[in-house]
Amino acid sequence: MRKIALFEQGISPTPIVKMSGGYGENQYYIKREDLIPFSFGGNKARKAAEFYKEIKACGADIVVTYGSNSSNHCRIIANMAAAMGIACHIISPEENRERLYNTRLVEDFGATIETCPVTEVSGTIDRRMETLRQAGRNPYFIMGGGHGNPGTRACADTYREIAVYEEQTGISFDYIFHASGTGTTQAGLVSGKLQADAEKKESGRCAGGQKIIGISIARNEARGREVVRQSIEDYLGARYEELYRDEALIFTDEYCMGGYGKYTPEVAQTIEKVMQSDGIPMDTTYVGKAFHGMIQYVEAHGLQGKNILFVHTGGTPLYFDFLERR
Ligand SMILES: *Cc1c(COP(=O)(O)O)cnc(C)c1O
Repeated sequence: MRKIALFEQGISPTPIVKMSGGYGENQYYIKREDLIPFSFGGNKARKAAEFYKEIKACGADIVVTYGSNSSNHCRIIANMAAAMGIACHIISPEENRERLYNTRLVEDFGATIETCPVTEVSGTIDRRMETLRQAGRNPYFIMGGGHGNPGTRACADTYREIAVYEEQTGISFDYIFHASGTGTTQAGLVSGKLQADAEKKESGRCAGGQKIIGISIARNEARGREVVRQSIEDYLGARYEELYRDEALIFTDEYCMGGYGKYTPEVAQTIEKVMQSDGIPMDTTYVGKAFHGMIQYVEAHGLQGKNILFVHTGGTPLYFDFLERR
């Protein structure tokens, strides 16, 4: 098994930059998780660095995971496995086989792709894991989107980086917005904040009224919230009862526009505007959709004069799919 130098050394804090404006009566900042220097970056690269440690520790010789043809997670896991010199097996729904940039990259990294009807995913995963074990292999399974405790742990670091930035600059964010999919990123951010608030309280400081708002890109509110809460519980473990507060978990499905991958012409316009005025690419499935949702949320809630941080969670190859479709 080969080592990946970047993951050995640890991921450096990603930049937080002020945006140029023109998005309304607030100060907008953006945290560039898309610039994590592995496989076009994004929150899946951050999560992968944690899974890397687990895979190394258990000496797996093949990674098994799940995702669609557009999956950023599958691209990064296939890339990581190739770099480590181990095999990668991806289970993918057969319903949509359009070859997007992420699909092509997964193929180029030499991963095997097994398709099945979306309703048979979990059975297919179980059978594949069993077959591999019987053949004497040592497979490591990662849930779709890098969901699970290592992923949450990785995303709690994102929050800690934000807190350090606030300390160093004296700028405090009233709101933090981000795209919420499997809920791992939100679970990490909220857990990081709950831990930081507890530390502040212990040292007699005020925790402040910062809100973290997950913009759902697919799930309805009831299910989305419950998955995030469950991930927070898994991550905080024994400290969950003491630290968890329901009002710290804000998840809105008001901007999911009919479900996964769906978006309106206004989202496309917002993406073009951000690219033109800030030079930052965003995709239509996650980041552009959530950024547009944030602007609408801010308007609907009449927010003014606030410091607002948007977490850019990556997905750069999907930006190029967007360009080709226009
Ligand atoms: C997966 C993904 C998300 C959602 O993150 P979760 O941790 O699954 O909620 C957001 N943005 C991009 C670009 C992603 O690939």
